[in-house]
Amino acid sequence: MKITKIETFVCNARMRNWIFVKVHTDQAGLYGWGEATLEWHTRAVVGAIEDISQLLIGEDPTRVEHLWQMMYRQHFWHGNGIVRGTAISGIDLALWDIVGKIHGVPCHKLWGGAVRDHIRLYCHLGGGRMEDFYQTDPTDARRFGDLAQRAVAQGFTAFKSMAVPETMPLEGLRPLKYAEACVKAMRDAVGDDIDIMVDCHARPSPRMGLRFAKVLEPYGLYFFEEPCWPETIEDIALIQRSVSTPIATGERLVSQHAFRELLERRACSVLQPDITHCGGLSEARRIAAMAEAYRVALAPHNPQGPVSTAASLEFGFATPSYIICEAVLDDVPWRSEVVREGFTIVPEGRIVLPNTLPGLGIEIDEEAIKKHPFEQEVLLRSFYRDGSVGDW
Ligand SMILES: [Mg+2]
Repeated sequence: MKITKIETFVCNARMRNWIFVKVHTDQAGLYGWGEATLEWHTRAVVGAIEDISQLLIGEDPTRVEHLWQMMYRQHFWHGNGIVRGTAISGIDLALWDIVGKIHGVPCHKLWGGAVRDHIRLYCHLGGGRMEDFYQTDPTDARRFGDLAQRAVAQGFTAFKSMAVPETMPLEGLRPLKYAEACVKAMRDAVGDDIDIMVDCHARPSPRMGLRFAKVLEPYGLYFFEEPCWPETIEDIALIQRSVSTPIATGERLVSQHAFRELLERRACSVLQPDITHCGGLSEARRIAAMAEAYRVALAPHNPQGPVSTAASLEFGFATPSYIICEAVLDDVPWRSEVVREGFTIVPEGRIVLPNTLPGLGIEIDEEAIKKHPFEQEVLLRSFYRDGSVGDW
């Protein structure tokens, strides 16, 4: 069996262009779907996949690990940059999809079978409508409470918000009070049985990140995400040591080496590899094996398209330390028109039952994608009040 062609399909989904990867084989009707979505880098990733293709055309698609080693180590430059890592990931997902289809089983059965009966989903406040999640005015705590109640009314038992505002390297009480008011409004709105997460988007400096963590500690967050720049692991580790709130990070990191460092420095309680960036399911499984030894939980980053979600769920059904799946379901109203999924979402509690179809269990409608061709991603930038560049 040979790989004959690797195609990319770009589908504009407002905030991001979904990049779907289709790996073709010389067996009639046998192909795999992957996803390599990377906001504001769409052309670069499509080009990177084209560059990698020359390594893979004519190779046996079932030698997933061997092909992964080629993609990561050949062409001299290691595949640990975000563009190359994303390209490798998209192809790796498609290869696992092919292997599952060959054996007629969902991917999680290739990796030892289901380790749990269902997976809990968490949503973004506003369901993934970017205006609700990213642009809610942090001065409007009541709106945070209203959106939190809406998430619970939709059946979710956990949700994530961006309650920490854009913050200069050092500020006084103002942003801290804003964040506290928003989180208090959400907690008051939904009670203690619902899990609330706050994503800082690495907006704060290390010291401001620590202050936010301290202020929000009494509200019992399920986890507190990217409290400062991902490059500053010692600072993340300090915040992790300073509060009881579990710290989460990892969505911008590529390759096992970056995650090894997080674990060695006891920097977080939750690893958030992005399966479409970190090196695919192959690398995510290595990261999970390391995390297991440290008893650190996994909650992969997943705001992208439907193949990414299917991959996260297959991974979750085979990975004991996986705790929850991020789900963006309302980013575009036609999401279900471009994909057929093999898993079932139970509305009450928003839990997912395992996929029963081979591979990743998804089928992408190529005709439906054509209705949403590439568009330049919406420019989302941040500047502080003095005009200097901030972190979005
Ligand atoms: Mg995040």
